[in-house]
Amino acid sequence: MKKEKGSGLNNSLICLHMFLYNFKLGYVINGYFDIIIITYKINNNGSVYMELKKIVDSRNVIERVKRGSIAEEMNIEPGDILLSINGNKVKDIIDYKFLITDEYIEVEVEKKNGEIWVLEIEKEFDEDLGIEFTNPLIDRAKSCRNKCIFCFIDQLPKGMRETLYFKDDDSRLSFLQGNFITLTNMSDEEIDRIIRYRISPINVSVHTTNPELRVKMLNNKNAGKLLSILKRFKEADLKVNCQIVLVKGINDGLELERTINDLSGLYPSVESVAVVPVGLTRYRENLYKIDPFDKESSKEVLDYILNKQKELMDKIGTRFVFASDEFFVMAGYPIPDFDEYEGFPQIENGVGLMRNFEYEVEKELKYINNKIDLNKSYIIATGTLAFDFMCRIRDMVLTRFNNLKLEVVAVENEFFGKLITVSGLITGRDLMKKLSEYKGFDGVIIPKSMLRSDTEVFLDDITVSDIERELNIRIIPAEVSGKGLINIFKRGE
Ligand code: SF4
Repeated sequence: MKKEKGSGLNNSLICLHMFLYNFKLGYVINGYFDIIIITYKINNNGSVYMELKKIVDSRNVIERVKRGSIAEEMNIEPGDILLSINGNKVKDIIDYKFLITDEYIEVEVEKKNGEIWVLEIEKEFDEDLGIEFTNPLIDRAKSCRNKCIFCFIDQLPKGMRETLYFKDDDSRLSFLQGNFITLTNMSDEEIDRIIRYRISPINVSVHTTNPELRVKMLNNKNAGKLLSILKRFKEADLKVNCQIVLVKGINDGLELERTINDLSGLYPSVESVAVVPVGLTRYRENLYKIDPFDKESSKEVLDYILNKQKELMDKIGTRFVFASDEFFVMAGYPIPDFDEYEGFPQIENGVGLMRNFEYEVEKELKYINNKIDLNKSYIIATGTLAFDFMCRIRDMVLTRFNNLKLEVVAVENEFFGKLITVSGLITGRDLMKKLSEYKGFDGVIIPKSMLRSDTEVFLDDITVSDIERELNIRIIPAEVSGKGLINIFKRGE
């Protein structure tokens, strides 16, 4: 969305080119996406008039230059604009990564003062220039064209932060930050480009390989072409990790068997598959009717997956398909051993998080030779899913610290509904309400995953300081790692 001519003049100034009787001003008009270049001209009669000359893209604006990098050596600075590499316009981050992969490149940069520099750079073949862009994608993020029957975003209540409603489905985000994509909004040219540029690994939300069922689940007529695209990736020797959001009575049972058979047939291109239960909030009015998994149905899923792992281990030498921790907790099954996760390829999907965390805590505690005397008391706040697990972690911690009072508190998710049990979706208000029942602790440890990345803001825009002020208690956000937790006790924060 672009603002009309003449508006937004009080937005921050980005660049300034000045000529005699004719100067250009650039303004950020729409977040970091657009710059409107406004030209002020002076008529023969001396009056000044404003002309909307052109709209240029601010997406190639350099935001950061790494210390000691080639870019710094070349005097490239934040605010400069990357215009081209070897005469080619840089459309997006994939273009950028591809175009800089050479030993000699010519980089055209527009400096903040409007000068155009052409820099001849000799470097190692795959050496990065050391620049980061205002928009990491250098392009608009592609939104998804699906209307999945289980979409979590469709189940958000109204009135939340606008960015939470954005449905991305962008292969560049898969490449950059591991987002899962459905491949339903990509043209043949874009698939060709992934193959040509060898973008890998790609994270794909599969859900099912049955074309008709996938069209139905994703509500998208293009969704049935998935297997043919995955076969092309296999021919090109690209690596793919897959995710299945399992919906009871829809893509489980024989459909899951079919999907796993199809995907394991594409091994080693398809490296692993995560199976996660559908997340259901209490805001599902007018949406597809979906029943949640319970203890019995979770057991059925796990019995199938654990057997399939054995079969695939014999056949292709890997367990290949992994169930998320949530299934194990719901079924009451023990979490698999560390080695059974084969290096945790799907940990971002909640597959093996608990086992890996426990392993890290054990490792950190081994470094403590003599028991540490602490004289402190903390609450560890978590979602209901991890309550029993965190109680086990607490017991482990208490073996290495004296005078430490640790209480694990499960926060029920009233905001999204009780079926949402993970700690990463707990809101500030729910946390505050639960903590108001407790008094006399030195601090409350929460996982950083409860907060928006690199901020102190919860999903409902309540901040850590809000809770601290309201309850007069310290909140201590911990890195989601064994080290992150144990360091809090070691430092006696
Ligand atoms: S791909 Fe489906 S689940 Fe993901 S955002 Fe789009 S509609 Fe929602």
